[in-house]
Amino acid sequence: MQTSFTVTQLLDPQVASSEKILRACVHCGFCTATCPTYVLLGDELDSPRGRIYLIKEMLEQDKPATREVVKHIDRCLSCLACMTTCPSGVHYMHLVDHAREHIEKTYKRPMTDRMLRGLLARVLVDPGLFRLAVVMGLIARPLAPVLDILGLRRMAAMLRLTPHRKPAPPLDRTGKVYPAQGKRRGRVALLSGCINPVLAPSTNEAAIRLLNRHGIEVVIAAGEACCGSLVHHLGREDEALSQARNNIDAWTRELEGAGLDAILVTVSGCGTTIKDYGFMLRSDPAYAKKAARISTRARDITEYLATLNLRDASAPVPLTIAYHAACSLQHGQKVMREPKDLLSKMGFVVKDVPEGHLCCGSAGTYNILQPALAEQLRARKVASIERLTPDVIAAGNIGCITQIAAGTAVPVVHTVELLDWATGGPAPEPLAELVSSKVSASP
Ligand code: SF4
Ligand code: SF4
Repeated sequence: MQTSFTVTQLLDPQVASSEKILRACVHCGFCTATCPTYVLLGDELDSPRGRIYLIKEMLEQDKPATREVVKHIDRCLSCLACMTTCPSGVHYMHLVDHAREHIEKTYKRPMTDRMLRGLLARVLVDPGLFRLAVVMGLIARPLAPVLDILGLRRMAAMLRLTPHRKPAPPLDRTGKVYPAQGKRRGRVALLSGCINPVLAPSTNEAAIRLLNRHGIEVVIAAGEACCGSLVHHLGREDEALSQARNNIDAWTRELEGAGLDAILVTVSGCGTTIKDYGFMLRSDPAYAKKAARISTRARDITEYLATLNLRDASAPVPLTIAYHAACSLQHGQKVMREPKDLLSKMGFVVKDVPEGHLCCGSAGTYNILQPALAEQLRARKVASIERLTPDVIAAGNIGCITQIAAGTAVPVVHTVELLDWATGGPAPEPLAELVSSKVSASP
């Protein structure tokens, strides 16, 4: 694609980087077939190719974003299916990140939008505040249909995503070291994160047990907090970079202290962002090197587990699993085989979900900000999963787990909980009923 940036514009490293990405696009349109919003809406401007044109014009003209551009960029899930499909290697992720930042700096959203986005950016990154919001959501949940009638669809969507049980106060694990059982074979940092400790503390508990059982010491680095992914996707780049720097400092202290073989992440959306810290901070002289070093150590938990020889095991109960590949894991990090291979080796029957390249509609805060599209995507995903008649759904991202669980009665758990169970840990809690019924039915 030809571009017409001025020499002065190209002196800005961010513009120069986006220009390179734009020039790689040859308008072939292969990406449109796998783009969830194009599949649903059939509008070229809601396809990757259409958005690339909109972003090109917006950046070239260096003008404030228009309402039309914002509409189509806001509808993008950042699912990155287009990057997997593109034969020309167009790095759409960096391009849309730049566009979101430009929008945030130049476009004045309606007051209610600004308030909601500000609230999400403040509440979701703080486990204490987030738990309070979940408890309030639990009380207000029955009001969701009324909010729908009043046209407050985003508030209704938030309430519908609220879990059915009051979450326990999140444990502050930062600074804690979980020693290896037996001979120590390695030492890793595990991201505690912001959403996980409230919605799914069992995920990291399972990861720690599993790693310790296999001789790996686990540390939750002192000072570590939200990775910045949530605000990064809202275009709030200064906040995202400040959160990234905080974690880089926390993990660098561990790297240079007792040492780390890897930085493990059990939320694939966060993993994609941490692996991109090197790019995000490439122009920061104080952090560029440190950020690149952290990014090279970051691994999804299943990537790391695949390098360990997990103890011989067989599924405690031979369950059929529908494996939901989170977009951030399959498209963002290109981690495709490891979760399925690990589960299969444990004796589970693993089934791929048809149309597995399509997003479930979670996508960070997308299911709150774009509830109508997110609900359509969830319904489509759940229908594809239920056709497999699985006993359980496994996924590697809390966003997907919450999104899918809100639309099906099939239990949804993190992959690592099943691996922990199969190697000597407790059964994942959502499977308790299923496991006892299978055990009592067995001869
Ligand atoms: S597939 Fe790649 S090169 Fe083709 S239109 Fe899409 S982004 Fe451009
Ligand atoms: S990131 Fe996903 S929703 Fe956005 S343009 Fe690419 S395929 Fe479409």
